[in-house]
Amino acid sequence: MISFEDKLHTLREQGLLRQRRTVEGPQEAVLAVDGKPLLAFASNDYLGLAHHPDLTQAAHQALDRYGLGAGASALISGHSAPVAALESALAQWLGQERALHFSTGYMANLGIIPALVGEGGAVFSDALNHACLIDGIRLSRAGQVTIYEHGNVAQLEAALRQSSAPEKWIITDAVFSMDGDVAPLKAIVALAEQYDARILVDDAHGFGVLGEEGRGTLSHLGIRSPRVVYMATLGKAAGVYGAFVAASAEIVEWLMQRARTYIFTTGTPPVLAAACLASLSRIRQDEFRRERLRALGARLQEGLKSLPWPALPSVTAIHPLVLGDNFTVTRIADALRDRGLWVPAIRPPTVPEGAARLRISLSANHCPEQVDRLLDALRALA
Ligand SMILES: *Cc1c(COP(=O)(O)O)cnc(C)c1O
Repeated sequence: MISFEDKLHTLREQGLLRQRRTVEGPQEAVLAVDGKPLLAFASNDYLGLAHHPDLTQAAHQALDRYGLGAGASALISGHSAPVAALESALAQWLGQERALHFSTGYMANLGIIPALVGEGGAVFSDALNHACLIDGIRLSRAGQVTIYEHGNVAQLEAALRQSSAPEKWIITDAVFSMDGDVAPLKAIVALAEQYDARILVDDAHGFGVLGEEGRGTLSHLGIRSPRVVYMATLGKAAGVYGAFVAASAEIVEWLMQRARTYIFTTGTPPVLAAACLASLSRIRQDEFRRERLRALGARLQEGLKSLPWPALPSVTAIHPLVLGDNFTVTRIADALRDRGLWVPAIRPPTVPEGAARLRISLSANHCPEQVDRLLDALRALA
């Protein structure tokens, strides 16, 4: 039997061993990490809400009123008033008939894809989709799975045309988590209409950041279509934890009846839903957070042009700098850390082989001088 020691050794040799760092205190631009202050470009707290007093106050109040645990799964006795209020608020705000709350985005996708895609259905999945979409597809009983090249609408169309499956699902990230680009959703919706398909959109990185009042990528692109099932998470821009699906009443009812990661798991602690509700108000009202994020993004993109590595263009909070090699990316990330900066090195299998990168993520918590400090350090290391 091969030992796990050997397996770990192989990972180390490939430059793929990962490490955790312990963060003290709340999410801020500067984090106390293993006893050392680090200016972090590593978080998905894009709007700087993870430590907002409105959210913590709402959580305190809910804690006093509801305590901690939900006690049981949602369909037994664990569906609390704050979760119900959050579902209604999300559905109404997004202009959807109904929303269903899940404990995390990962759980949501593991549950909704097998529930939506009927046996023998065909799935068309972007090559750069998030791991939990891929795993959800693996758990489904799809009869045919086509992985189309990232963003390649022509290839997607060819595959749709050839498919005679009774049910077709196009599944895509709205904003790609490691590339920061936006899926060509307008073209995808047009194809769905032409070939009678439905679309599952995962807006983990667009929700709160893009669109009118932060309604997300569909709003950003002006898309309204009954063919789209919308899913987003609440642990990124919303600054808390959790996820939801929003769609027609009958689709949401079906998911509530059939999504196993909804049915067979303990209900969400009410305190988290209460914090999410407070977050929703801030997302809607605080346009200045999105403005700041856009301004910081433009400043960063401009500065990255002077580096030898290609930066991927981005209108989102995610700005990848592709270094290619696993060891180079770890070396640069380590050197940044020695200079008091934290930018995560993203390696396979999160990204394709040879496309290792620094994933710079911005937050409304950052200030322009901090972006300049990162640029100076990168220039010094290039
Ligand atoms: C982070 C992420 C998820 C998972 O959401 P969690 O709530 O963190 O489990 C799902 N989809 C995408 C695209 C993500 O980036």
